[in-house]
Amino acid sequence: MGSVDRSALTRTVRGLWDDDILPSLSELVAVPAISPAFDPQWAEHGHLAAAIEHVQAWIAARDLPGLTTEVFELPGHAPLLLVDVPATPGVTAEGTTVLYGHLDKQPPVADWSEGLGPWTPVVKDGRLYGRGAADDGYAGYAAIAALEAVHAAGGAHGRCLVLLETSEESGSPDLPAYLAHLGDRLGDVSLVVCLDSGGNDYGRMWLTTSLRGLVQVGLTVRVLDGGLHSGMASGIVPSSFRIARQLLDRIEDSATGEVLVREMHVDIPANRLAEVREAVAAVPGTLTETVPFAGGTTAMDKDEVELALNSGWRPTLSITGAEGLPPLDDAGNVLRPFTTLLLSFRLPPTADAAVAFEAVKELLTTDVPYGATVELSRVEHAGGWNAPDLAPWLRETLDEAGKDVFGNPWRTVALGGSIPFMGLLHEAYPNAQFLVTGAVGPDSNCHVPDESLNLDQAAKVTEAVALVLDAHAKQG
Ligand SMILES: [Zn+2]
Repeated sequence: MGSVDRSALTRTVRGLWDDDILPSLSELVAVPAISPAFDPQWAEHGHLAAAIEHVQAWIAARDLPGLTTEVFELPGHAPLLLVDVPATPGVTAEGTTVLYGHLDKQPPVADWSEGLGPWTPVVKDGRLYGRGAADDGYAGYAAIAALEAVHAAGGAHGRCLVLLETSEESGSPDLPAYLAHLGDRLGDVSLVVCLDSGGNDYGRMWLTTSLRGLVQVGLTVRVLDGGLHSGMASGIVPSSFRIARQLLDRIEDSATGEVLVREMHVDIPANRLAEVREAVAAVPGTLTETVPFAGGTTAMDKDEVELALNSGWRPTLSITGAEGLPPLDDAGNVLRPFTTLLLSFRLPPTADAAVAFEAVKELLTTDVPYGATVELSRVEHAGGWNAPDLAPWLRETLDEAGKDVFGNPWRTVALGGSIPFMGLLHEAYPNAQFLVTGAVGPDSNCHVPDESLNLDQAAKVTEAVALVLDAHAKQG
């Protein structure tokens, strides 16, 4: 196996992005492929299928020896595109590399800037604007481009499976079924490349080394079978809102935001603590810079390392919805029969989500003030993920990519969100190496108006992935 011609690699990646990917990815932006959770009629609408078909056609036309594409559609599950690329001749390394991305999108939301829109691709100032450009439409293109570049530059890669799903923004409920269905097809996965993440700037490559888990639960406190005149009933009937406040006080310190559920806390590993310090030192200010604080609102801590640990390695509680509270225009002087709050916890990567939920349930349902009725609903919980240690070959390759491609050493992110597939794969293939990265930066506006993909960063990440695939093939 020859060594990679570095300038051919760069040239190929840049050429592919300019001439082939950008036009096709722009067309993909125009497809309103909203994730199933936000579009219950996704099957009738057919947008997920259209997105898959569009990307499949582009990939099938690429010049990669032996490449095959296949669409899987299990009944009742959103479709999945699988691309199988055999190893380059001479590669004896056995394992499969899985390259992961998703083609479903967040909802469009309102208030995009003048001239921009969710389904209107616009290229401006080195970015492609539109929903799903950065999260995560580019991933499949980048994965295939990396493989093509390896070929063009005389490098090697092992057997690769590019797996593009369409239920990620709904929490990937369909993936376990597909993983079970694919079974042996995956082979022995030795490397996972996830292109659904990013980092704190565009000056370097960012590795996600952990993801948080989550617990969601709807809390209903019921005190009456029907509402009563508040002038008559208040002072006699306890307020469901006040009881809910008391219950919340059991699980969160309202002065500091600290979650009081012991089972949700973990000891932060020393290597992750060191990484967080390095990441904050590399790009100070980045965690709060782009936050649209209202008025004089400040962050929860002045120390940015503490903020990074809060969002990556500590449990947090957000109230994401409510029921039983009418909008102001409809609110009469009524002592309301019930209050419902949707509690959304994020958990440290290594916390046990099932145990954490049981602890919350116990705290919310035991010794309820005034003997009020408590009902729990919409229960969901999922564990987080903590990356295995980097193998020396992968660390060396990333160091090299940092120098040659980005001009800065790589840094890490303890991501506050979740990518359920990583935990699934880690469990199934405990010896696999993980490269969780991507082109998303602090201003990519995923999930909000004006989403955009930084095209230069996307090309650089593509090049780094190509180097990793080549290095992986030369192991063992
Ligand atoms: Zn995503």
